[in-house]
Amino acid sequence: AHLDRIDAVDGAVHAFLHVDRDGALADAAESDARRARGEARGPLDGVPIAVKDVLTTRGLPTTCGSRILEGWIPPYDATVVTRLREAGLPILGKTNMDEFAMGSSTEHSAYGPTRNPWDLDRIPGGSGGGSAAAVAAFEAPLAIGTDTGGSIRQPGAVTGTVGVKPTYGGVSRYGLVALANSLDQAGPVTRTVLDAAMLHDVIGGHDPRDSTSIAQEWPSFTEAARAGSTGDMTGVKVGVITELAGEGWQPGVMARFQESVDLLVKAGAEVVEVSCPSFVHALAAYYLILPAEASSNLAKFDAMRFGLRVVPDGDPSAEEVMRATRDAGFGDEVKRRIILGTYALSSGYYDAYYGQAQKIRTLISRDFDAAFGSVDVLVSPTAPTTAFRLGEKLDDPMAMYLNDLATIPANLAGVPGISVPNGLADEDGLPSGFQVLAPALADDRVYRVGAALE
Ligand code: GLN
Repeated sequence: AHLDRIDAVDGAVHAFLHVDRDGALADAAESDARRARGEARGPLDGVPIAVKDVLTTRGLPTTCGSRILEGWIPPYDATVVTRLREAGLPILGKTNMDEFAMGSSTEHSAYGPTRNPWDLDRIPGGSGGGSAAAVAAFEAPLAIGTDTGGSIRQPGAVTGTVGVKPTYGGVSRYGLVALANSLDQAGPVTRTVLDAAMLHDVIGGHDPRDSTSIAQEWPSFTEAARAGSTGDMTGVKVGVITELAGEGWQPGVMARFQESVDLLVKAGAEVVEVSCPSFVHALAAYYLILPAEASSNLAKFDAMRFGLRVVPDGDPSAEEVMRATRDAGFGDEVKRRIILGTYALSSGYYDAYYGQAQKIRTLISRDFDAAFGSVDVLVSPTAPTTAFRLGEKLDDPMAMYLNDLATIPANLAGVPGISVPNGLADEDGLPSGFQVLAPALADDRVYRVGAALE
């Protein structure tokens, strides 16, 4: 049914870069047989899923939305993908994304933009717009995204889907093509909080192949979501982040947000305002730290090892091949960030830019620590506006970056966050999102509070 749905709507939505019809049908048939024998591998055995094209899939193309990886077929599965297969979820295909996950609109994909199923003239958010649009358009019941600065949560907000960024180290990064190693996390993109929790239970947990993976037993997130769905928030202390509201925030997004805060009070939660003063610097710090890490990560695309190789006429040197390949293979946003990151890391500037940004990062973590000393969760709207029109911010990188205002602090501090659908803004009738953040390791809280809001 989902493959039929993809056939019917993906020409317009363009959520997928690659559909693995045969593989998905074969896996589904095996799952049917297993379940008929009473040997289901768990509650999600047989439920199809779409995977963002930044996670390696053995035998299936993995492009990261870039020309430079066109035609590359990875020889191994990311741990997240291995766990999906082990749990019996057929993989429908790979979803569109901003090139190397850089962007907030999926317009930076080298393979053309994804469109928002709510309004095809609007962006589906980014970088994981393909995963969010696939779920919103009923092309897939579940999807995997990755969130380095909001790329699961912000697309979730603007497409009316649920998106979760787990605690840093909670889900393995093995096989996740790195954008910024210290910020990246894979996580669920779904239609309900319970679905997200069940999926998180499948993909999460310690992986010795990722040196930053946390070696501990995690509680059942499914149980946490079930507990929250009773709607009783008695005893839960909620902090509304002062800095993530006000000027520049769309009135209709703020109105829906305030209604949900009022609902939490009605459900028994204690709600207070909490100030996180360093959050106003989060965007500036992120857009130095991320390009610094990304410029280093992308050095491996050297025309020798992966994908594209452009050989100029004559008798080019290795460096000339490399230059021609990177020139043709990378898009403008990727080049912009390579230049920015290389500059921020260069000798003489390192302390002034990268060093300062790292200090801000520490201050942001301290703001979280202080806040979580007095509240259980922090809340804000997920994104300042609903989905904007395609092309609207494409030529204005700063306007694009501002979409990430509310999502970036969680990545800098490594804490978990969820975006839950929060109703439609009055101005435009488009979805908005409600973000819940919790202390590191307390992902169960985002499921509990998220489910209560559903
Ligand atoms: N918009 C952010 C960026 O462009 C999101 C990145 C991400 O989470 N992958 O860096």
